[in-house]
Amino acid sequence: ALQEAERQVPSVCPYCGVGCQLTYHVKDNRILRVEGRDGPANHGRLCVKGRYGFDYAHHPQRLTQPLVRRADAPPKRGDFTMDPSRWQEVFRVATWEEALDLAASRLREIRDAHGPRALAGFGSAKGSNEEAYLFQKLVRTGFGSNNVDHCTRLCHASSVAALLEGIGSGAVSNPVMDVLQAELVIVIGANPTVNHPVAATWIKNAVRRGTKLVVCDPRRPDLARHAWRYLQFKPDTDVALLNAMMHVIVHEGLVDADFIAERTLDYEALRRNVEGYAPEAMAPVCGIPAETIREVARAYATSRASMILWGMGVSQHVHGTDNVRCLIALALMTGQVGRPGTGLHPLRGQNNVQGASDAGLIPMMYPDYQRVDAPDVRERFEQLWGTKLDARPGLTVVEVMDAALAGQVRGMYIMGENPAMSDPDANHAREALAALEHLVVQDIFLTETAYLADVVLPASAFPEKTGTFTNTDRTVQLGRQALTPPGDARQDLWIIQQMARRLGLDWDHAHPREVFEEMRRCMPSIAGITWERLEREHAVTYPCPEEGAPGQPVVFTDRFPTPTGRGRFVPVDVIPADERPDDEYPMVLITGRQLEHWHTGSMTRRTGVLDALEPDPVALVHPLDLERLGVAPGGIITLQSRRGEVSLYARADDSSPPGAVFVPFCYYEAAINKLTNPALDPYGKIPEFKYCAVRVRPG
Ligand code: SF4
Repeated sequence: ALQEAERQVPSVCPYCGVGCQLTYHVKDNRILRVEGRDGPANHGRLCVKGRYGFDYAHHPQRLTQPLVRRADAPPKRGDFTMDPSRWQEVFRVATWEEALDLAASRLREIRDAHGPRALAGFGSAKGSNEEAYLFQKLVRTGFGSNNVDHCTRLCHASSVAALLEGIGSGAVSNPVMDVLQAELVIVIGANPTVNHPVAATWIKNAVRRGTKLVVCDPRRPDLARHAWRYLQFKPDTDVALLNAMMHVIVHEGLVDADFIAERTLDYEALRRNVEGYAPEAMAPVCGIPAETIREVARAYATSRASMILWGMGVSQHVHGTDNVRCLIALALMTGQVGRPGTGLHPLRGQNNVQGASDAGLIPMMYPDYQRVDAPDVRERFEQLWGTKLDARPGLTVVEVMDAALAGQVRGMYIMGENPAMSDPDANHAREALAALEHLVVQDIFLTETAYLADVVLPASAFPEKTGTFTNTDRTVQLGRQALTPPGDARQDLWIIQQMARRLGLDWDHAHPREVFEEMRRCMPSIAGITWERLEREHAVTYPCPEEGAPGQPVVFTDRFPTPTGRGRFVPVDVIPADERPDDEYPMVLITGRQLEHWHTGSMTRRTGVLDALEPDPVALVHPLDLERLGVAPGGIITLQSRRGEVSLYARADDSSPPGAVFVPFCYYEAAINKLTNPALDPYGKIPEFKYCAVRVRPG
């Protein structure tokens, strides 16, 4: 029988960027169950993660006391094997006072001896907007540099680079729900059924109501079953396919000439560039028949309202920014933006990756994407924050790791991120973390990254705190505290401020509301959103520049937020992946997520239902490849790249073409990022998670 809850607490889901609203049913400081609420993104729906992925908060491995590395601990090594049950061989329990004093004093010493840029901080897309804001402010004003970043660098940094360049805003133009108003929807390089499941249900609903769905992906996602056309293009050939579509639109006179003339710049350069991309020439490159390319291009250009949604299959390439430049150009040349049911929607991964980026948790921008190297902007923030600020953009996630190994970055403060699992070439990242003179990690579990720390600060889980979170639709929502943190674990906002005080900053925010108020003063996009309104309405969509303004789900209706008000075409050519298959490493590795687990698995693998559904590390391999290897489904295989190897179970799966193998990155015992390539997209500095060369052997 269902237990009766004592309290029902309205909040939001801690996992993906869809931002489903939910209700925690709570008794005796435990969540009994979770129910969907009628939020703007989910209308009562939840996926398996949102509904069942909550008991990690009660897991016995929760960190409940500050830990300090023992003087007689084994030396830090990047190639460690973590065993959380033997943590006492590495750490001893400390008081908060001792742990915070040690954490901050060592960082201060490094700053004073080697300069501000010898320190770096990674915040988290899982934390609230207020935590992200305070964390980046701490790095900028307490450490003294802009070396602050978070996992946006690993998911949509290239999308944001292209969007800022092309149309002046890195956020989505239309909410997911607009698919219901679209006549045609393109989903490219995304697997919403797995990664944004509730969003996928709206896409399927749209199809039922007559919307034409085009799915473009080298791996066949479940959504392809609902598609009008499925384009299984060859991995790494996005630009060839998209330029060919634009070639058709130009040659068949399907452009929106008025939109181009009134609202865009540099069309002529784009037109000239796509001349060389006739579908007949690109068909053998991308593996899609020329007539199919023509058919899809015509349908996109001529529909009443066409919308494009994309994911990390587009962004996680060395040409990720180029891929997105093509998507922007498609929308601009056809005028498919600025109206309901049109536009550009990069599906955000983590529940608050949009909000954390908006709040300035990125090395080149202050809150609201105001550049750190713009003197007038910097002056404004210097006045607001009462201190001199570094004029140079900071290092990005992968660059910080390189700088740590080179001895340039010597101390780090990591809040809620797990780069030992999530960074490309994870062996290299682990060596870099091990090489730091001082590493402070704030988290809820002893993660692979925390295992390499000098000080571990036990933090609060999602249902244990109150704060605002911004979903993929730009909707700011209120998450409310349902539980008290276990043992001596503390609120992240309190921990950040304790660190700040020890670094000479006089901060004393008793409630996230006070931080949100400060954010409103420096972020025009949310200036009109009051805390009281969020408490009353639960959700408001920005831009909302004035109190009482309704918020704007659809933007760019009459101008783009660029200096000229116009969007800009940026022509691009095909560049290959950084590492192509060869005789030595003949297969392609594609990494990603699976429905039941979330990112590095630190939460979902400690969740009863989800871990029971997917308990073991798996590689999805085409049946023909398994046959060639002489491995039965369920057998063990070893994958090896130039950077590392892992062994895991093989699962027969024909959604990828023969020669390509897909592996989720959530399994610490087979950490696939040991194999991935750290080569970066030059603009967004995103690594190429979606393509590297591997070889596979049985056993
Ligand atoms: Fe949570 Fe995303 Fe699932 Fe919604 S779709 S319940 S936000 S994981």
